[in-house]
Amino acid sequence: MRIILLGPPGAGKGTQAERITNDFKIPHISTGDIFRYNIKNNTELGKLAKQYIDKGLLVPDAVTNKIVEDRLSKDDCKNGFLLDGYPRNVSQAESLEKFLANENLKIDHVLNIIVDRDSLVERLSGRRVCPSCGATYHVVTKPPKIEGICDKCGEKLIQRTDDNIESVLKRLEVYEDETKPLIEYYSKTNLIRNIDGNKPVNEVYNDIQALIGDDK
Ligand code: AMP
Repeated sequence: MRIILLGPPGAGKGTQAERITNDFKIPHISTGDIFRYNIKNNTELGKLAKQYIDKGLLVPDAVTNKIVEDRLSKDDCKNGFLLDGYPRNVSQAESLEKFLANENLKIDHVLNIIVDRDSLVERLSGRRVCPSCGATYHVVTKPPKIEGICDKCGEKLIQRTDDNIESVLKRLEVYEDETKPLIEYYSKTNLIRNIDGNKPVNEVYNDIQALIGDDK
C-alpha cells in the first residue's frame, strides 16, 4: 500500500505514521527525519538543510525530490511505503507523480490530518524529543516520568531547533501558502480523505484504520 500523509506541522503525522507503518509493514519515509539524520551526522546535505529548517522554510525542491526518489528506489519500497512530510508543495507532488508514473505505480491513499491552529502552536512549542531514540513528549500533555529525561532510553530530552515560536509560526505560514494547496491537488484524483486530528491519538488511529484497514 502506498500512502501519503498530509497535514500541518504538529498534526501528529509522525505518531500516526509510526503506527500505520508498523501495522502494514511498510517503510516510513519522513523527509524531516532524513534531514535531521543528516544534520546530526554533519553531512553536506545536513549543512544545507539546516539553513532552511531552522528558519522554518522548505528545503529546495530539487534537493528534496532527489532524496525521495533515491529512497523510493530501494528494495524495501517494493510493497509500498508511507510518505510523511512529502510532498510539501504542488511542484513536489508533480515530481512525485512523474516518478511514480515512470515506475507504473500509484498512490492508494492520501490522508489529510486536520487540527486547529491554536492546538498546533501549543503542541509544537511544548514538544520535546529524544535525540537518541526519537520518542516524543509534551511538557503539559505528555510529560516524561522524570522531567527532561526520556522514559524509553534515559537520554536527556531536547527541543527541536525549529520548535521555537518564531520557526513554528513561519512553518504554519509556509504550510498555509505552499502545502495546503495540495488538498485541492489530491481532491482532483479523489484520493484524499480527511481525518480529525484534534481527537486523542488512539481515536485518530481508529479513524485511519477504518479508512484504510481493509487494504491490509
Ligand atoms: P517535519 O519533520 O516534516 O516537520 O520537517 C521539518 C522541516 O524539514 C520542515 O520545516 C522543512 O524545513 C524540512 N522539510 C521536511 N520535509 C520537506 C519537504 N518535503 N520539502 C522541503 N522541506 C522539507
